[in-house]
Amino acid sequence: MDETRCREEVQKRLGWGYFYQCSRKIWKDGYCKQHHPESVKKRQEKATRRHEESQKKTCWYKLNEAQKTIVDQAAEIKRLKAELEKTNKEMRLPLFLMERPETG
Ligand SMILES: [Zn+2]
Repeated sequence: MDETRCREEVQKRLGWGYFYQCSRKIWKDGYCKQHHPESVKKRQEKATRRHEESQKKTCWYKLNEAQKTIVDQAAEIKRLKAELEKTNKEMRLPLFLMERPETG
């Protein structure tokens, strides 16, 4: 291993399982700028962000989000109805004043 060069082992394009040492000069901590863990992490984060952004444009993503909204709204409607029912009972309002979709 050449200590004056980047310590990353790179896979050669031809031939699986054959590695050679990166030929670039050391930038920091024994790695070249491209292979330094910080750079690798940054690149991965960027790729992840880009992937997420492109996912958000897909029909599947939008459909999933729309469905989540429906689920949230259904839960909110249920909660509000229960609250109204409770309030109405406390106020001793006649039952017919309560809107109940299952009876109407
Ligand atoms: Zn390198």
